[in-house]
Amino acid sequence: MADEALTESLSGTGGVAAAAEVWVWVEVEDARPAEVSLELLGRARELADLLGTKVGAVVCGAGVTDLGPSLIAHGADTVYAADHPDLAAYLAQPYARVLTGLIRVRKPQIVLYGATTAGRDLAPRIASALRTGLTADCTDLRIGGHHTRDRDYQDLLWQIRPAFGGNIIATIVCPDHRPQMATVREGVMRLPEPDEQRSGRVLLVPVTRAVELHEADVAETGDADQGDDGDRIGPLFLRPEDFTVALLERHKEAKRVDLKGARVIVSGGAGVGSADGFALIRELAETLGGVVGATRAAVDAGWVPREHQVGQTGTTVRPKLYIAAGISGSVQHRAGMDQSARILVINTDPLAPIFSVAHYGIVGDLFKVIPLMVAAYRRKGGAFAAQGADQGSRAAGGPAEGAAR
Ligand code: FAD
Repeated sequence: MADEALTESLSGTGGVAAAAEVWVWVEVEDARPAEVSLELLGRARELADLLGTKVGAVVCGAGVTDLGPSLIAHGADTVYAADHPDLAAYLAQPYARVLTGLIRVRKPQIVLYGATTAGRDLAPRIASALRTGLTADCTDLRIGGHHTRDRDYQDLLWQIRPAFGGNIIATIVCPDHRPQMATVREGVMRLPEPDEQRSGRVLLVPVTRAVELHEADVAETGDADQGDDGDRIGPLFLRPEDFTVALLERHKEAKRVDLKGARVIVSGGAGVGSADGFALIRELAETLGGVVGATRAAVDAGWVPREHQVGQTGTTVRPKLYIAAGISGSVQHRAGMDQSARILVINTDPLAPIFSVAHYGIVGDLFKVIPLMVAAYRRKGGAFAAQGADQGSRAAGGPAEGAAR
């Protein structure tokens, strides 16, 4: 989202705010920060600048202190590194223990999590332990006000997401409890360019595993009371019951479809009509050197595997060229593709909502249009896709340019 939009929403609330930090929980995958965490650091930076405060990145694991400089380059002012062998792999209970303890001590006003498997597991536990709210799968985050009959709130986190089956875009606030917390799916926020010149500090969070129950009992009171002098944080204790689940083995399946990294995506929807119909979508994707995408309707029908799904509950994509064939353009689908650089729509219905986000529209039957496109691209040696995708900018709002009717 543009800075102006953020600023506009803030100006309506009467200005700048508390010093409590904006935090991101940084997930670590293969000794590297997950991309979604870096995307969230970028948005946290924007939110914190509007609030006049700092960004904290909280990272748990073994050997994670080394990630400090990279997290600072991506927008963190302070990196809280809980570096301990017992945190080497994600486990819900010990991670929740550390995060909850640290939040109680440092009192951030906002904490953001990637809506990954681990993030969806961790964030609700922390929300429950801290008796605060949590909004899942936000598609936007802003700063704004909220007015009730008795009170005007300022500088709240607006947690924005589709609701009621996508029929409304809801803005959710958590006015009375802290921290305000949200999860955001990968790809929804833009990945900022790292700035190696940025400076920040890495604070070590001392973590100790209490082996005896009485040690943990002492620790339980200690957690809440631990003060800090700004640069030092008192120890956080992992309790025996945090290890009721053990990780025995880890199996990781390689990604079969890379929608997020694709420059060209050709997506099919219910209008494709069958699994066989998707052969045509595949043919166009291959001709353009692209990847096949799909709507949930096509996935639910069993025509394409789930990893091809684009949208709110699929992958959020921003390719150079997105071709949507036989797709009506539900809000859930648009949420995952409307930031694509160029969007070409093929649909028999000129009133289909997908045309509202299209740069180019063809009103027609995909079974007639796509074979013509394949033949044309093959004649031109496939150069169009890359060229067309790189040129020009989106027409301001409104339906597609050059819709053939
Ligand atoms: P339809 O809405 O049925 O549209 C089919 C289109 O094909 C129509 O516009 C029609 O005019 C056109 N058509 C028909 N025949 C042809 C032809 N021969 N040539 C050209 N055009 C033709 N959906 C997603 O896609 N991604 C998500 O992540 C997602 N998440 C969801 C999460 C929730 C909580 C909910 C409630 C829903 C979600 N959905 C998602 C589903 C979404 O609401 C829609 O149901 C879905 O996107 C519709 O898919 P569609 O456009 O393929 O089908």
